[in-house]
Amino acid sequence: MTEIRLYLFQSGTQRCKYHDIRMNQGEGRSYEIPVPWFLLTHPKGHTIIDGGLAAEGLADPRAYWGNSVDHYQPLMTEEQGCVAQLRALGIQPEEIRYVLLSHLHSDHTGAIGRFPNALHIVQQQEYDYAFKPDWFAAGAYCRNDFARPHLDWRLLDEDGYDLYGDGTLRCISTPGHSPGHQSFLITLASGLSLTLAIDAAYTLDHFYDRALPGFMTSASDAARSVAKLRALTEQHAAKLVPGHDPDAWPQLTLAPGWYE
Ligand SMILES: [Zn+2]
Repeated sequence: MTEIRLYLFQSGTQRCKYHDIRMNQGEGRSYEIPVPWFLLTHPKGHTIIDGGLAAEGLADPRAYWGNSVDHYQPLMTEEQGCVAQLRALGIQPEEIRYVLLSHLHSDHTGAIGRFPNALHIVQQQEYDYAFKPDWFAAGAYCRNDFARPHLDWRLLDEDGYDLYGDGTLRCISTPGHSPGHQSFLITLASGLSLTLAIDAAYTLDHFYDRALPGFMTSASDAARSVAKLRALTEQHAAKLVPGHDPDAWPQLTLAPGWYE
C-alpha cells in the first residue's frame, strides 16, 4: 500500500535580476532563484506537479529555450532533471499517473512527455495561451516541452478540481502570472495542509503584498489571486510554499525528506 506523501524537489536554480522577482526593487542586481517541483505519492497513482527545467535543454540551452536564457539562465545538472531525481528515489517513469501543471512556463514544463503512462493536466486557458502568447510573454513558453504529439491531455475549465476525488489535491485557479495559472491545496492523511502557490506568489514578499512580481499578464488578477490564496491558506491553517523564494525554500523539508 503506497502512503500519501508530498516530496519537494528542485531542478537547480535560475539566475535572473532581483527586479524580475520584486518589481522596481534591487536596481538590476543579480538574483538566483530555486526551480521547484513536487511529487505526490498516492495509492491511486503518483502525481508530478510541474517538473522544473528540462534536462534535455542543457546540451544546448539557447537552441532549446531560445533567447530567454539571457534573462533567466538555467543553472542545473542532468542529475537534477525530474526523471533522474525520481529514479534516484526508486520511482520509475512508468509509475507516474498524472503530470499536473500549474502553468506552461518553461521552468515548470520539464516533466511533460517524459512519463509514458501519464495523463497531463492543465487549465484549458493556459494551454490555449501557450500556443498564442502575447509578445512580452512568448519567451517564457518553450514548445519543445509542451507541443509534443501523442500526449494525453486533460484540459480543465473549472476551479477547485479535486484530482483524486478524496480532497488530497485540489487545483486552485490563480490567474495573473499567466492567464490560466493554478495553485494547489494539498491535504495529507495527518491533516497537514500545504498551499503550493507556485508562481501566484514567487516569494513571501509577494504573498504578503510587499512586492509585485516583475512579470505578469495581469497585475490586478495577480493581486486578487494572492488575496484568494491567503484566505485559503488561513482557512486550512496550511503551510505556504512560495514559488521561487530563495530564502523560504531551504527552510522547507526537501526531498528525499517528505511531508505526510
Ligand atoms: Zn511562471
